Amino acid sequence: MTRRQTPDPHPHFDTLASHAGEDDPSGAVSEPIYQTSAFFFDDIASAGRVLSDPSQGYVYGRNGLPNHATLERTIAQLEGTESAYCCGSGMGAEAIVFLALLQSGDEVLATTDLYGGTPALLSHLAGLGISTRYVDSMQIENFELSDRTKLVFVETLSNPTLRLCPLEKVARRAHDRGALLVVDNTTPTPYLCRPLEHGADLVVHSATKFLSGHHDVTGGVVAGSNELVERIRSCGVRAGGFMAPLDAWLAVRGIKTLALRMRQACDNASRLAAWLADRPRVRQVLYPGLPSHPQHALAKRLLSGGFGAMLAFEIEGDPGQLIERLKLVRFVASFGGVTTTVSHPASTSHRALSSEQRLAAGIPDGLLRLSVGIEAIDDLIADFEQALALVH
Ligand SMILES: *Cc1c(COP(=O)(O)O)cnc(C)c1O
Repeated sequence: MTRRQTPDPHPHFDTLASHAGEDDPSGAVSEPIYQTSAFFFDDIASAGRVLSDPSQGYVYGRNGLPNHATLERTIAQLEGTESAYCCGSGMGAEAIVFLALLQSGDEVLATTDLYGGTPALLSHLAGLGISTRYVDSMQIENFELSDRTKLVFVETLSNPTLRLCPLEKVARRAHDRGALLVVDNTTPTPYLCRPLEHGADLVVHSATKFLSGHHDVTGGVVAGSNELVERIRSCGVRAGGFMAPLDAWLAVRGIKTLALRMRQACDNASRLAAWLADRPRVRQVLYPGLPSHPQHALAKRLLSGGFGAMLAFEIEGDPGQLIERLKLVRFVASFGGVTTTVSHPASTSHRALSSEQRLAAGIPDGLLRLSVGIEAIDDLIADFEQALALVH
């Protein structure tokens, strides 16, 4: 294969993303899917060489396949860091981070409005002697760490409440006490925010969402320094944190259009947010791009290239009726695909809470969350217009 020189030592995000996976030694323009669980060796010495230095080749599926390496290299580049490790789901990535970095007696400090699976996972760690203390995300700047706090876990942009984390301040507080800051960057993606540039030590992703972008992949990724990621990788290999090679390939394929998709989706989301904010039957719209958002100024500092593809809004009347009357926009308990989807947090992600607890968490029962896709904005507005007119 002939190799060209990279034209620019610091290519832009769009260029890095669209050229992902071009380094296959076969010269294939589209990287092959390495659907294998093991590799041959000619002799004992070469097996030993690869086993002691994984950069020399591949051994066994769970230790890593070429499609994993491509996805990991791509995410590390896009997040602006050295290394990444991919595994079977976002929750798997979180579980391996906790297992690799925490011990009995340690404490995790976490925000209250995390993705529901994260506190559920943290509650399992209590049985291993790892406790969690929760802080209101709007108070996160003032939290106190204890000597036991080893890890602070936040989301860059939470959902469905659409709150942002002041990453620099939180990183400084964590580092002052020797704790690591781990940021779930699933919702903004590195297209909008690179938390490691704001002081975070590790970024985790559900690659199931915007990164892959087509509702056809389940996967997770952790990115950060070589030193931290290698600790996580060795734990992940032992814990069985495997991603199917086809899923890793599909994630890379999705990432090639991440910048384009995010631009269109963010543009659609900001127009839809402004349109919804003007409807009489809409009580409130949560979107970091609206000047009415309590953290609009922080959003302008933390996010670049848009204000995200997620928004939430509260309607007067029955949210179930709106969902039933939408024609284009479908109800899905996930997000991040190319089509706009709606979900109702009170009956899905937050159903375990009482109505009062939900209200205290900023999730009234009439709140709907949208993951905005790349459709023509006029068609999205027309769908909401006809559906809102029928709600009573
Ligand atoms: C979906 C999601 C997860 C979990 O990822 P899975 O791929 O479903 O395991 C974690 N964090 C956030 C913010 C998510 O949206």
